[in-house]
Amino acid sequence: MNIQTQPRLLQSYVCGQWRTGSRDGKPLLNAATGEVVALIDASGFAHAETLDYGRSKGGPALRALTTHQRALMLKEIGLKLLDMKEDFYAESLWTGATRADGWVDIEGGIGTLLTMASKARRELPNVHVIPDGPVEKLSQDDSFSAQHILSPMEGVAIHINAFNFPVWGMLEKIAPNLIAGMPAIVKPASQTAYLTELMVRRIIDMDILPEGALQLVAGSAGDLLDHVTCQDVVTFTGSAETGRRLRTSPAIIENSVRFTMEADSLNASILGSDAGPGSEEFDLFIREIQREMTSKAGQKCTAIRRAILPAQHVDAAIAALSERLGKTVTGDPADKQTRMGPLASLDQREEVRDRIAELQRSARIVLGDPDEVQVGSGDTKRGAFVNPVVMLAEDPAQAAAHDVEAFGPVVTLMPYESNEQAVSLARQGKGSLVASVFTNSNEVAHDLVLGIASYHGRVMIGNRKSAKSSTGHGSPLAPLIHGGPGRAGGGEELGGMRAVKHYMQRSAIQGPPELLTAVTGIWSDGADAQQGQHPFRKPVSELRLGDQIVTPAREVTQEDVEHFAHFTGDTFYAHMDSEAAKANPFFDDRVAHGYLIASFAAGLFVDPDPGPVLANYGVDNLRFLIPVYFGDTLQVRLTCKEINPRENAEHAEVRWDCRVTNQKDEVVAQYDVLTMVAKEWP
Ligand code: NDP
Repeated sequence: MNIQTQPRLLQSYVCGQWRTGSRDGKPLLNAATGEVVALIDASGFAHAETLDYGRSKGGPALRALTTHQRALMLKEIGLKLLDMKEDFYAESLWTGATRADGWVDIEGGIGTLLTMASKARRELPNVHVIPDGPVEKLSQDDSFSAQHILSPMEGVAIHINAFNFPVWGMLEKIAPNLIAGMPAIVKPASQTAYLTELMVRRIIDMDILPEGALQLVAGSAGDLLDHVTCQDVVTFTGSAETGRRLRTSPAIIENSVRFTMEADSLNASILGSDAGPGSEEFDLFIREIQREMTSKAGQKCTAIRRAILPAQHVDAAIAALSERLGKTVTGDPADKQTRMGPLASLDQREEVRDRIAELQRSARIVLGDPDEVQVGSGDTKRGAFVNPVVMLAEDPAQAAAHDVEAFGPVVTLMPYESNEQAVSLARQGKGSLVASVFTNSNEVAHDLVLGIASYHGRVMIGNRKSAKSSTGHGSPLAPLIHGGPGRAGGGEELGGMRAVKHYMQRSAIQGPPELLTAVTGIWSDGADAQQGQHPFRKPVSELRLGDQIVTPAREVTQEDVEHFAHFTGDTFYAHMDSEAAKANPFFDDRVAHGYLIASFAAGLFVDPDPGPVLANYGVDNLRFLIPVYFGDTLQVRLTCKEINPRENAEHAEVRWDCRVTNQKDEVVAQYDVLTMVAKEWP
């Protein structure tokens, strides 16, 4: 039981200080009990200064760090937040969230932060500027090339968030911008801002982030968006109407400010025509609808609003939903028996009731009464409770549910007769964050998923095999895109390291290779190279980009190829049977194995003695470009291409450009050799 004695006056963290607004705070109420839990006001701030503070203080400090250093800060913050999670759960109850709902927000949010921090260290180089794609050769003689790079935007990332995920909404957005090297200003929705404020307070107290990297506006945004410039990025989650207004605000238009929007989304779940009552897929479909209606009381941007199902299964679906929803106890989230908490506020309940009335113009209620509330616990007058409502649109093409979002535990059933009709109904949502398809048929999965993919940011297929492992319809995951076209806002968040790149500018850098290397930290053909001591003798402290070895040549004989074939068991005809090889359109005769070429290359370029090269952990982009025949000779040129020191470790990842040529100086194989090299070697 959580007892709040004194409502807290929320503060904003701007320009390095916790500050209160200039007016009396507006009361924020516990969603279940109606008690005042906090007071909020952010008036009187001059946000030109807030933005400037982020740009001038947080930005340079973050950009002075490398990608991995920034990711490690987030890891440390995430682990500390996990240790204090119970404090967040206590306030999460005030929002109307049950423990299970709070888990999605709090531990889901912290988990997202930690996943992004870990992926950044695995997938991004440890650099200030991230290379994007390969070097593009623009001249025959290697005197002019190009490379795309990503550099951090030099403004601030302003995140305007919705009330339903006060923690996850902040963390999933600040993780990418902080990894990118950009400071953030978070503006949570007022209704649940106390929880965001508590977490920001804890993060600031940790003293891990550089000053100015994270600011908070707890209260209305004021003039925050009036001062944005071309280097700032704005993200928005909330209603489509507010989103449209903000997206077209003058400074955003004037300065072409990047604006990512995630708004109302009328997500669909489709039951495949193969999956009738009694099948596991039917049960999974029903369970998912119930879960999406009741988790966060349906206040999820990804919740199922439209359930599209074969017409002959409508009655069975209503009966199954009635049984499942009948067991869902609505009540005070502090009560352990409660499975579904209240909506975030009484205003939200009025809003949901109004939307249901709109939906009723083209659909009828088959389960639940929006005006009658039955609860297991809690005050039905002061608490924003509402029971689940299931509607049926008998003429589904005309259903208002394709246009109207009731942001609560409400779903509309839409019967269909053919796969084409199911696809067409899903697309009537005009672009959604997510859809799910429950089927155990290859054809149904193929037809439905490809039919709707271009209208959705994510499509989840569910069947009996994935029933236990599936992460579900409603869960955005850090490695996967979250966002959708059209009505869903047209934005894209998460998606692993894609998210980081939204906060960086991609530039194509063209020039002579040696100057490109100086800019990008990647050696390429045509750039300066130096030969001398074998580069495998050099620790990272001595190794330089362009350190190179050109090996002596080695002949490839028939005996070599036959020995390799029998030794490895790879007796593929192209290496063993002259006639069969000649019949192959790519070969004139028997050829050497590609892996024999790579093995001989290693035999040519390695320095065998113990030294700073610790291990070979793979190759990238391996291509065998032309055949090697018996009697050909191979020679290797190995050049130090990229050096990536690991933070908190005694080694760097070093990438070597490996080019294998024949006696005619034709490139027969090309690849990157990946090694770990000690930073120092005695
Ligand atoms: P709003 O669109 O009103 O608010 C979203 C965010 O925008 C809040 O942080 C809000 O701040 C802020 N905001 C509002 N006006 C401005 C402004 N002029 N300048 C800057 N920021 C502004 O959505 P609500 O949270 O009130 O929810 C309303 C409806 O939106 C819901 O009923 C639901 O239908 C939909 N919604 C959809 C979501 C989705 O992800 N699909 C998520 C949440 C809501 P403040 O709270 O201080 O006003």
